[in-house]
Amino acid sequence: MTEKLYEKDGSLLSFSATVLACEPTETGYAVTLDRTAFFPGGGGQACDVGTLGGVSVSGAALVGDAVVHYTGAPLVVGATVSGEVDRSVRFPRMQCHTAEHIVSGLIHARYGYDNVGFHLGEDEVTMDFNGELTREQLDEIEDLANGVVYADVPVTVSFPSPEELPNLSYRSKLDLTENVRLVTVEGCDVCACCAPHVSKTGEIGLIRLLGFIRYKGGVRIRLVAGEKALADYRARCRAAQTVSELLSVPQEKIAEGVTRALAASDTLSQNNAALRRRLAELLAGSVAPTEGNRVFFLSEVESDPDVARHLAAIAIKTTGGIVAVCYGEGERGFRYLLASEKTDLRTVLPEINRALSGRGGGKPGMAEGTFAASREEIERFFAD
Ligand SMILES: [Zn+2]
Repeated sequence: MTEKLYEKDGSLLSFSATVLACEPTETGYAVTLDRTAFFPGGGGQACDVGTLGGVSVSGAALVGDAVVHYTGAPLVVGATVSGEVDRSVRFPRMQCHTAEHIVSGLIHARYGYDNVGFHLGEDEVTMDFNGELTREQLDEIEDLANGVVYADVPVTVSFPSPEELPNLSYRSKLDLTENVRLVTVEGCDVCACCAPHVSKTGEIGLIRLLGFIRYKGGVRIRLVAGEKALADYRARCRAAQTVSELLSVPQEKIAEGVTRALAASDTLSQNNAALRRRLAELLAGSVAPTEGNRVFFLSEVESDPDVARHLAAIAIKTTGGIVAVCYGEGERGFRYLLASEKTDLRTVLPEINRALSGRGGGKPGMAEGTFAASREEIERFFAD
């Protein structure tokens, strides 16, 4: 059995211990100590990483009553080693996890909803509640949660006896009666949890509820806290700064700026669509009716699937055979759009594609694809 230093003091990251066992594994070594500050994972929080005797620890796990550390090199059994838990990984997790307790405690106390799902991700926390909440209610919870941070109240750990437990009121996901570890945020929340938390709420820093969705009859809330909240805020400020520079509007007016830019783009799209139709009319307008085929080649500026479609739709009215619109000329040939009112294109397309090294298909009246052929070859084919 390992003495679990992390259970009593989440702020303890440096410690010394005696190596009890060291066994090779497929990828390294499994080391057991008489005591450890390495959290093996649990309660929604992943295991710690760090170093033991200068050797890297890539993870830890609880095996029976012992914490096993996965190291990159062997350690001498019986030796005293110093352990260092990587603070840059552990501390932000404790900030987010303790923030989760505070928010869950506040929601439970105010609305009676239970936290029924919790995921502590690398970038943010998601938490599920079995009741619905509005944006306004969550804004209020966010204010109250940050009030708990400003009050800088202690976060303590206790191990009540099975006799004491029935008289205590606390949140719990499991019906445990033994080895229950209670995490108390003074004046705010009591919850059964095995993970390390910060010692005082002031260590958490900002608690931000990023957003929520309706989920399984309740809500799923996204939360960031502490270092992750700062990183999130920094990234959002940079994004806002970029948008502000792109639109040449002050940062506080980027929403109006984007709205204006989208409206302008909308107008342009509508104008563009009208111009494409007009261009197709002009391209089709000057040709005399024919009972044979008709081929159009669109220049680079005219090359657009929309123009090709409009043009084919107009030209088909004065063409007895097939209308072929070739456009988007590239190294390997043209894109094509074929249309016909009298010929079922599916019956002739294999022959056309064979003759002009084409690929494509379509419906009886319209087909699309590519010709790997020259302008002259295409003109000659449809002239026959
Ligand atoms: Zn917890």
